[in-house]
Amino acid sequence: MMENIAELKAFLSFPRDIAIVTHRNPDGDAIGSSLGLYHFLKEQGHGVNMISPSEYPDTFAWMPEIQKMAIYDVDPDLVRNIIERSDIIFCLDFNALDRIDKVGEIIAPARARKAMIDHHLYPEPFADFVSSDTSASSTCELVFEFIKEMNGMRYMTPLIGECLFTGILTDTGSFKYSTSAKLYRIVAELLEAGVDDYKVQDLIFNSLKEKHLRLLGHCLNNRMEILEEYNTGIITLTKEDYANFDIQRGDTEGIVNYLLKIKNVKMAAFITEQPTIVKISLRSKGDFSVQEIARRHFKGGGHRNASGGYSFQSLQATVLRFKNLLPRYRLQLMA
Ligand code: 5GP
Ligand code: MN
Repeated sequence: MMENIAELKAFLSFPRDIAIVTHRNPDGDAIGSSLGLYHFLKEQGHGVNMISPSEYPDTFAWMPEIQKMAIYDVDPDLVRNIIERSDIIFCLDFNALDRIDKVGEIIAPARARKAMIDHHLYPEPFADFVSSDTSASSTCELVFEFIKEMNGMRYMTPLIGECLFTGILTDTGSFKYSTSAKLYRIVAELLEAGVDDYKVQDLIFNSLKEKHLRLLGHCLNNRMEILEEYNTGIITLTKEDYANFDIQRGDTEGIVNYLLKIKNVKMAAFITEQPTIVKISLRSKGDFSVQEIARRHFKGGGHRNASGGYSFQSLQATVLRFKNLLPRYRLQLMA
């Protein structure tokens, strides 16, 4: 639920200049919620611009008007200009300004009102209007709720619905995690609004290139380690792997989840050597929280069952640091 919805409704009852900002390395939920809200607000006659700190993966290139997203890494002046002339900034799928680096530094002092719509743990209080719900499957689910709260269902189109369905589909791993009766009701309404669920699934999940399957094979065959005494699985990728497999943004999406397919694996780590950092993606099953590990040991955060962070140490040192943490979580991991 959006706090102060009446005030926000009044604010949006005039045509406004609106910016929609999402997090670095935007995923399906970040992109789907941004585009869904973008098309919704445009239907109502607002001037709307979308911003991402970094580029979006090719997987989502089919989404109408995604190429209108201003990318800070590509054109920082454009992003600065958009933020400066905005009356209100919607922050989607992140809950702390440091998650968007330099863009956050521009937004913090901006004159615009700020609205946050997000489902991560521990939101920071930087926004005037907040819809933050960690029980939501996705930010897209919360954008759908927001549209309802705005009495906006008459503006719902198949296009808006397909944007929101995209984030729901990707953040729940095709309805495997974070589902609820409420979510299925929302999805039913999206289908009634004309969403072609089969088409969206096909566009997102059946659009791999040969190199993606070869990379997956490499990860599972050569880069996977199962630590049975901790019910933990690790996959690592080196700089050389990145070169050999021509790995681009988004190409490694979802690989970490394969580890959870092993019956006893309760925690999965995907640790990759990036140009300036080592990135760690964590997943878990059940009550075991990877959020705490990401936050306390890898400068990150996220959700109980899906979190991430990074380290400035080498790949080897980061993997070792991760392994050294396991004994203190052993009881929970083996429960
Ligand atoms: P992924 O492993 O797919 O990159 O991210 C999984 C979840 O962890 C996402 O919800 C994302 O927001 C969060 N996450 C990933 N990396 C970071 C990070 O560096 N910092 C924080 N705070 N959250 C992260
Ligand atoms: Mn999300």
